[in-house]
Amino acid sequence: PTTAPAALAVRDVTVRFAGLTALDAVSFTVEPGSVHAVIGPNGAGKSTCFNVLSGVYRATSGTVHLGDTELTGRAPHRIAALGVARTFQNLALPPHATVAESMLLGRHRLTRSGFVSTGLWLPSAAREARRHLQRVREIAEFIGLEKELDHPAGALPYGKQKLVELGRALCMEPQVLLLDEPVAGMTADERRRVAAVVAGVRDSLGISIVLVEHDMGVVMRLADAVTVLDFGRRIAGGTPAEVQNDPAVVRAYLGA
Ligand code: ADP
Ligand code: MG
Repeated sequence: PTTAPAALAVRDVTVRFAGLTALDAVSFTVEPGSVHAVIGPNGAGKSTCFNVLSGVYRATSGTVHLGDTELTGRAPHRIAALGVARTFQNLALPPHATVAESMLLGRHRLTRSGFVSTGLWLPSAAREARRHLQRVREIAEFIGLEKELDHPAGALPYGKQKLVELGRALCMEPQVLLLDEPVAGMTADERRRVAAVVAGVRDSLGISIVLVEHDMGVVMRLADAVTVLDFGRRIAGGTPAEVQNDPAVVRAYLGA
């Protein structure tokens, strides 16, 4: 093929649980360097979609590709190693770690043997550790956490803890970042800040982002493209302006 592949291509993905079709032949593609929002009412299948993309759930049928690489059926750690990082709807930070330590966890897959087994007394290992710390510092600066690097992550305000999680995901140097409700539970100020950081991740780092988010203001401002799910089906897709005025979307949200 002469055209560049999509960053992420979801084709005809169906997920069935006992007696329930959570996703029904859903397809969409995420263009490189774009923010693609997946929206829909409760129970629409958004989290299921994320869980398929990150390998937590296995699709009953259909495929997922990262560029030319097929992700379908691979384990979560393999998918992460291939370049798809995710954050969680609920915080998943180690309770006592500092911000720097929490973010360093994201670099684990990039080390040859992992930090735990690395002999830090070896000059090469010490160099490698310094290189990772330097990158953690750069990413902390990028997301505005450079002053908090030595603070216990768990003691920071909620909005900043969510940024630490974003930082940890960025430390994996992903090609695609999956963000599950990144501004949920945040103050208006925190929302603006996270939205600006996410836009920066796309615009400055060129990372493709898949965003599940309930805050329509954030979706409309940030997303380049939107996929709308309802009862497991893709009922609309397009630019934010296009889906906003789509009668099927209006009906789904009004429950009519
Ligand atoms: P959303 O995130 O859009 O609110 P979900 O993907 O969480 O929707 O859920 C879609 C449907 O799949 C719901 O009916 C939900 O109850 C069901 N579902 C999700 N995960 C499971 C599971 N592990 N087992 C059985 N049913 C599930
Ligand atoms: Mg959900």
